[in-house]
Amino acid sequence: MKIFCVGRNYAAHAKELGNAAPTAPVIFMKPATALLKEKYFFLPEFSNNIHYETEVVLKIGKNGKAIQPQFAYRYISEISVGIDFTARDLQDDLKEKGLPWEIAKAFDNSAVVGEFLNAKEYNLQNLNFHLLINGEQKQTGNTGNTIFDFNFIIHYISQYFTLQHGDLIYTGTPEGVGKINMGDHLEGFLENKKMFDIEIK
Ligand code: ZN
Repeated sequence: MKIFCVGRNYAAHAKELGNAAPTAPVIFMKPATALLKEKYFFLPEFSNNIHYETEVVLKIGKNGKAIQPQFAYRYISEISVGIDFTARDLQDDLKEKGLPWEIAKAFDNSAVVGEFLNAKEYNLQNLNFHLLINGEQKQTGNTGNTIFDFNFIIHYISQYFTLQHGDLIYTGTPEGVGKINMGDHLEGFLENKKMFDIEIK
Protein backbone atom coordinates (compact mmCIF):
# COMPACT_ATOMS: atom_id res chain seq x y z
CA MET A 1 0.00 0.00 0.00
CA LYS A 2 1.29 3.42 -0.98
CA ILE A 3 0.26 6.86 0.22
CA PHE A 4 0.49 9.75 -2.21
CA CYS A 5 0.07 13.38 -1.22
CA VAL A 6 -0.51 16.43 -3.36
CA GLY A 7 1.18 19.62 -2.19
CA ARG A 8 -0.03 23.16 -2.95
CA ASN A 9 -3.30 22.08 -4.54
CA TYR A 10 -5.33 25.01 -3.17
CA ALA A 11 -4.09 28.43 -4.27
CA ALA A 12 -4.82 30.21 -0.96
CA HIS A 13 -2.80 27.61 0.96
CA ALA A 14 0.17 27.79 -1.45
CA LYS A 15 0.12 31.55 -0.87
CA GLU A 16 -0.03 31.33 2.94
CA LEU A 17 3.24 29.33 2.91
CA GLY A 18 4.82 31.72 0.43
CA ASN A 19 4.76 29.31 -2.52
CA ALA A 20 3.70 30.14 -6.08
CA ALA A 21 0.71 28.20 -7.44
CA PRO A 22 2.23 25.17 -9.23
CA THR A 23 1.93 24.51 -12.97
CA ALA A 24 2.01 20.71 -12.39
CA PRO A 25 0.93 18.79 -9.27
CA VAL A 26 3.53 18.59 -6.48
CA ILE A 27 3.60 14.91 -5.46
CA PHE A 28 5.25 13.27 -2.49
CA MET A 29 4.74 9.94 -0.71
CA LYS A 30 4.44 8.52 2.76
CA PRO A 31 5.16 4.87 3.63
CA ALA A 32 2.51 2.51 5.04
CA THR A 33 4.03 3.03 8.51
CA ALA A 34 2.87 6.67 8.38
CA LEU A 35 -0.74 5.59 8.82
CA LEU A 36 -2.08 6.44 12.31
CA LYS A 37 -3.76 3.34 13.71
CA GLU A 38 -4.80 4.74 17.09
CA LYS A 39 -7.20 7.45 18.26
CA TYR A 40 -4.33 9.55 19.56
CA PHE A 41 -1.17 11.10 18.15
CA PHE A 42 1.99 11.58 20.22
CA LEU A 43 3.90 14.78 19.45
CA PRO A 44 7.33 13.62 18.22
CA GLU A 45 10.48 14.91 19.89
CA PHE A 46 12.15 15.95 16.64
CA SER A 47 9.82 18.87 15.98
CA ASN A 48 8.47 21.90 17.82
CA ASN A 49 5.96 22.79 15.13
CA ILE A 50 3.72 19.97 13.91
CA HIS A 51 1.03 21.37 11.63
CA TYR A 52 -2.34 19.90 10.71
CA GLU A 53 -3.32 19.86 7.03
CA THR A 54 -6.90 18.70 6.54
CA GLU A 55 -7.40 16.90 3.23
CA VAL A 56 -9.88 14.81 1.29
CA VAL A 57 -8.42 11.30 0.92
CA LEU A 58 -9.14 8.99 -2.03
CA LYS A 59 -8.84 5.23 -1.86
CA ILE A 60 -7.90 3.46 -5.09
CA GLY A 61 -10.15 0.51 -5.93
CA LYS A 62 -8.23 -1.19 -8.75
CA ASN A 63 -4.77 -1.31 -10.28
CA GLY A 64 -3.91 1.06 -13.11
CA LYS A 65 -1.10 2.74 -14.99
CA ALA A 66 -1.15 5.73 -17.37
CA ILE A 67 -4.83 6.34 -16.61
CA GLN A 68 -6.55 8.88 -18.84
CA PRO A 69 -8.37 11.68 -16.96
CA GLN A 70 -11.78 10.75 -18.36
CA PHE A 71 -11.51 7.24 -16.89
CA ALA A 72 -9.86 8.23 -13.60
CA TYR A 73 -13.12 8.28 -11.59
CA ARG A 74 -13.41 4.52 -12.12
CA TYR A 75 -10.32 4.02 -9.97
CA ILE A 76 -11.66 5.90 -6.94
CA SER A 77 -13.58 3.44 -4.76
CA GLU A 78 -13.86 5.32 -1.48
CA ILE A 79 -13.35 8.76 0.00
CA SER A 80 -12.57 10.13 3.43
CA VAL A 81 -11.01 13.07 5.21
CA GLY A 82 -7.62 12.90 6.86
CA ILE A 83 -4.69 14.89 8.12
CA ASP A 84 -1.27 15.18 6.54
CA PHE A 85 0.74 15.98 9.68
CA THR A 86 3.79 18.03 8.78
CA ALA A 87 6.85 18.94 10.83
CA ARG A 88 6.85 22.50 9.50
CA ASP A 89 10.11 23.49 11.18
CA LEU A 90 11.95 20.58 9.52
CA GLN A 91 10.20 21.19 6.21
CA ASP A 92 11.10 24.89 6.15
CA ASP A 93 14.72 24.01 6.76
CA LEU A 94 14.74 21.34 4.01
CA LYS A 95 12.91 23.59 1.55
CA GLU A 96 15.42 26.35 2.11
CA LYS A 97 18.24 23.93 1.29
CA GLY A 98 16.40 22.47 -1.70
CA LEU A 99 16.38 19.01 -0.10
CA PRO A 100 13.67 16.30 -0.08
CA TRP A 101 10.90 16.60 2.53
CA GLU A 102 10.61 12.98 3.70
CA ILE A 103 11.52 13.38 7.37
CA ALA A 104 9.12 16.35 7.65
CA LYS A 105 6.21 14.57 5.96
CA ALA A 106 6.54 10.79 6.01
CA PHE A 107 7.30 10.05 9.66
CA ASP A 108 5.40 7.45 11.70
CA ASN A 109 1.73 8.28 12.31
CA SER A 110 1.83 11.38 10.10
CA ALA A 111 -1.15 10.20 8.03
CA VAL A 112 -4.54 10.33 9.73
CA VAL A 113 -7.47 8.95 7.80
CA GLY A 114 -11.10 8.69 8.82
CA GLU A 115 -13.74 6.12 8.01
CA PHE A 116 -14.37 5.56 4.30
CA LEU A 117 -17.50 6.34 2.30
CA ASN A 118 -18.54 4.95 -1.08
CA ALA A 119 -17.19 7.41 -3.67
CA LYS A 120 -20.03 6.63 -6.11
CA GLU A 121 -22.53 8.32 -3.79
CA TYR A 122 -20.81 11.73 -3.87
CA ASN A 123 -20.02 14.49 -6.34
CA LEU A 124 -16.25 14.51 -5.94
CA GLN A 125 -15.93 17.95 -7.56
CA ASN A 126 -18.06 19.54 -4.83
CA LEU A 127 -17.22 18.06 -1.44
CA ASN A 128 -17.24 20.22 1.67
CA PHE A 129 -14.90 19.29 4.48
CA HIS A 130 -13.74 20.87 7.70
CA LEU A 131 -11.64 20.43 10.83
CA LEU A 132 -12.60 21.27 14.40
CA ILE A 133 -9.92 21.68 17.07
CA ASN A 134 -11.31 21.69 20.58
CA GLY A 135 -14.73 22.35 19.05
CA GLU A 136 -13.61 25.40 17.06
CA GLN A 137 -13.61 25.36 13.25
CA LYS A 138 -9.98 25.74 12.14
CA GLN A 139 -10.05 24.76 8.48
CA THR A 140 -12.75 24.46 5.88
CA GLY A 141 -12.52 23.54 2.21
CA ASN A 142 -14.40 22.58 -0.91
CA THR A 143 -12.88 20.27 -3.52
CA GLY A 144 -14.18 22.59 -6.26
CA ASN A 145 -11.34 24.95 -5.29
CA THR A 146 -8.47 22.60 -6.12
CA ILE A 147 -5.95 23.71 -8.72
CA PHE A 148 -5.80 20.12 -10.10
CA ASP A 149 -8.97 18.04 -9.87
CA PHE A 150 -8.98 14.39 -8.76
CA ASN A 151 -9.14 13.05 -12.33
CA PHE A 152 -6.06 14.97 -13.33
CA ILE A 153 -4.21 13.98 -10.15
CA ILE A 154 -4.84 10.29 -10.82
CA HIS A 155 -3.84 10.73 -14.45
CA TYR A 156 -0.67 12.54 -13.40
CA ILE A 157 0.44 10.17 -10.61
CA SER A 158 -0.25 7.08 -12.74
CA GLN A 159 2.18 8.23 -15.42
CA TYR A 160 5.00 7.66 -12.92
CA PHE A 161 3.66 5.11 -10.43
CA THR A 162 1.37 2.12 -10.90
CA LEU A 163 -1.68 2.75 -8.76
CA GLN A 164 -2.72 -0.31 -6.78
CA HIS A 165 -5.87 -1.39 -5.01
CA GLY A 166 -5.78 0.14 -1.52
CA ASP A 167 -3.42 3.02 -2.27
CA LEU A 168 -4.42 6.36 -0.73
CA ILE A 169 -4.16 9.84 -2.21
CA TYR A 170 -4.20 12.92 0.04
CA THR A 171 -5.47 15.62 -2.30
CA GLY A 172 -4.07 18.78 -0.71
CA THR A 173 -5.04 21.19 2.04
CA PRO A 174 -6.92 24.46 1.88
CA GLU A 175 -5.67 27.54 3.74
CA GLY A 176 -5.73 27.79 7.52
CA VAL A 177 -3.04 25.25 8.47
CA GLY A 178 -1.56 25.66 11.93
CA LYS A 179 0.20 24.15 14.89
CA ILE A 180 -1.20 21.37 17.07
CA ASN A 181 -0.60 21.33 20.80
CA MET A 182 -0.68 18.68 23.48
CA GLY A 183 -4.23 18.00 24.61
CA ASP A 184 -5.86 19.19 21.36
CA HIS A 185 -8.93 17.32 20.19
CA LEU A 186 -9.18 17.09 16.40
CA GLU A 187 -12.36 16.15 14.55
CA GLY A 188 -12.59 15.90 10.77
CA PHE A 189 -15.81 16.15 8.78
CA LEU A 190 -16.87 15.37 5.23
CA GLU A 191 -20.22 16.90 4.25
CA ASN A 192 -20.94 17.36 7.99
CA LYS A 193 -20.40 13.67 8.72
CA LYS A 194 -17.73 13.06 11.35
CA MET A 195 -14.93 10.98 9.84
CA PHE A 196 -12.24 10.96 12.52
CA ASP A 197 -11.73 12.00 16.11
CA ILE A 198 -8.23 12.01 17.61
CA GLU A 199 -6.41 13.48 20.57
CA ILE A 200 -2.89 14.96 20.65
CA LYS A 201 -0.68 13.62 23.43
ZN1 ZN B 1 -0.70 18.16 2.65
